[in-house]
Amino acid sequence: MCCALSNTESKRPHILIIYTGGTIGMIENADSGALEPFDFDHLIDNVPKIKRLDYDIDNFQFDVPLDSSAMHPNHWIEIVKIIEDNYDRYDGFVVLHGTDTMAYTASALSFMLQNLRKPVVITGSQLPIGEVRTDGEENLITALQVAAAKDSDGTPMVQEVAILFENYLWRGNRSTKHSSDNFNAFKSSNYPRLAKIGLGISYRKDALWRTEGDAPFNVRYGLDTNVMYMDLFPGISETVVRHQLAIPGLKGVVMKTFGAGNGPTAEWFLDAIREAVDRGLVIVNVSQCDNGMVNPTRYKTGTVLNRAGVIPGHDLTSEAAITKLMFLFGQGLTSEEVKKEMESPLAGEMD
Ligand code: ASP
Repeated sequence: MCCALSNTESKRPHILIIYTGGTIGMIENADSGALEPFDFDHLIDNVPKIKRLDYDIDNFQFDVPLDSSAMHPNHWIEIVKIIEDNYDRYDGFVVLHGTDTMAYTASALSFMLQNLRKPVVITGSQLPIGEVRTDGEENLITALQVAAAKDSDGTPMVQEVAILFENYLWRGNRSTKHSSDNFNAFKSSNYPRLAKIGLGISYRKDALWRTEGDAPFNVRYGLDTNVMYMDLFPGISETVVRHQLAIPGLKGVVMKTFGAGNGPTAEWFLDAIREAVDRGLVIVNVSQCDNGMVNPTRYKTGTVLNRAGVIPGHDLTSEAAITKLMFLFGQGLTSEEVKKEMESPLAGEMD
């Protein structure tokens, strides 16, 4: 870890930046022209304004900064460990991360960091910080301000894992990357923004997460990757469905269904689902639509899935659904226990 402006005695906000990689810190390879992750010093040298924030900022950098397409649950464990080890020493945490899998990391962290009462703000950028038109500088500065923000009673304004990108602060486990081009790259179709970033930062206090009770901050590390997506499409064949559901060791499936949670009603399809459920596979129904929720009793096509033993994923994003399955199986829960937990919110990820 390297320290910048560190002064633990002061009352200045004390923020830890965790740099995992992503476009924000990338530079162009001179030979190929492709963007590659680069080190934290390069990133911070390009944001001289950071010194004008009167904060104590420390940083922790991944040994090898990653393009986030290479993120693995082991990296989530690494991030969570850094936060656990430093939780009491900092007012807030800023995680610099590539946009491609940011919503997965945000969702996983929200389940792993339990009874969180400090901000964990994840941000990155569409253009590298060294480029003239970069969005990275603004995103980094605003993320630091969000991580330092206090409510009128002196408690942290944000007490959850959030994604800060361009004009909005979103709940992490409600977010999805929706554009590979726009500076506003993220959206949250089923949950309001936590803050609007304009001339000022305007928080929606009614939307902010607060941990109930006084249970202490706690982390959970287990993650089980024996999960997968099964995306439905008209014409999906029996061979494809049965093959996927028969993958050895598979424990959980996020089935991406049509509209309000509908799927084929062919007998072979329902038989394949019933057989998989009987073997203990947990199949969660998440809609291919990003707005609205799975309503398993609205159409017959949804009701039959429900009767076959598929669990409604309500208004979960697919990123939250798959990471929640990894998390729940990682805690050693049985299939029946996982099914029950999938239908109750852990960290504000569903209504
Ligand atoms: N491929 C990059 C990443 O996810 C994209 C980005 O950061 O925007 O690391």
